[in-house]
Amino acid sequence: MEKRLNKKDFDNFITSLRGKGYKTIAPKKDNNLIVLDEVQGGGEISLDHVITNNSIKEFFFPKTEKVLSYRMEKNNVQIEEPEDFAVKSVIFGSRPCDAFSLPVMDKVFNWDCSDKFWVQRREAVTIVTIACDKCDTYCFCTSVGLAPDAKGGSDVLFTKISGDDYVVETVTEKGESLIKEFEGVFSDPLSEASDRQVATVEKKFEIEKVKSWLDENFVHTVWTDFSLKCIGCGACTFVCPTCHCFDIVDECTMTKGDRVKNWDGCQFKMFTMHTSGHNPRSTQGERWRQRIMHKFKYYVEKFDSILCVGCGRCSRVCPADMNISEMLEIIATEASQPGNKE
Ligand code: SF4
Ligand code: SF4
Repeated sequence: MEKRLNKKDFDNFITSLRGKGYKTIAPKKDNNLIVLDEVQGGGEISLDHVITNNSIKEFFFPKTEKVLSYRMEKNNVQIEEPEDFAVKSVIFGSRPCDAFSLPVMDKVFNWDCSDKFWVQRREAVTIVTIACDKCDTYCFCTSVGLAPDAKGGSDVLFTKISGDDYVVETVTEKGESLIKEFEGVFSDPLSEASDRQVATVEKKFEIEKVKSWLDENFVHTVWTDFSLKCIGCGACTFVCPTCHCFDIVDECTMTKGDRVKNWDGCQFKMFTMHTSGHNPRSTQGERWRQRIMHKFKYYVEKFDSILCVGCGRCSRVCPADMNISEMLEIIATEASQPGNKE
């Protein structure tokens, strides 16, 4: 189904969604940041940005959440599990790269066991994406097989045309039923095709070359060279829409407690520290290698998906100016050198 909506009618759309009980999440200003967060009306929505500072993942996999509570009396243990954590919501105005991270992450959250928090939220949330009409030097979605107007992971895709109008395309049945539910908000599509304002994102490297080089170079000086600037702050993993490591801790007294799931990250020194004191990834070079290998080799082999959507957030946020796409370009160039297997 194709419809049209003018920017001035975004407020009507958001208000109508809220009127029917949807929680509405959209990009909005927060001091100097643009963040995906709950909005009460369309007037709060910010559209003049390349990408939000936070990624979409926290609405499915929060930074911290209680997975159960328990109470113990002698041999009797009572367990209480959270309910109502999946709220009927619409995420409006996320970018196509963020939306695509969701089907990529579905694979790991439904792998050896099904993570009910992720799965139920995925069912409860509808993703309405706005295609990118601008990009910056950190963006590299086209190098990992995506595009600024890619539809994967979105239920509905908005693409800007002329005069603040947007073409509205439904991508999934869930998206189709959402647009039908609010049909009165939308206009019919224009009778003539109009130019779509979609950013041009330069392709920076051949991803197949990166994979083939990684297959042969677990041991290489490049890992230390790349990581020399890295201070191990982990910011890159927290802003990344596809990083999904977490830790489980019990916050408890002698008789009761909460079991809590918290984001963790492979760039932290303590991430792989054993109780014995041995750390199998004791250097930042090994930790950086793990990040690249996981995203561009291990996940590809296990789930047939690249664990990176080219959003560039990790490079934008890095206090040490580590730039992942520049490193992948170096690796792809290295793979093309005589004597290296492509
Ligand atoms: S954000 Fe930069 S400095 Fe911090 S862990 Fe990641 S690569 Fe290292
Ligand atoms: S690794 Fe960096 S560029 Fe790739 S998805 Fe994560 S934050 Fe985005």
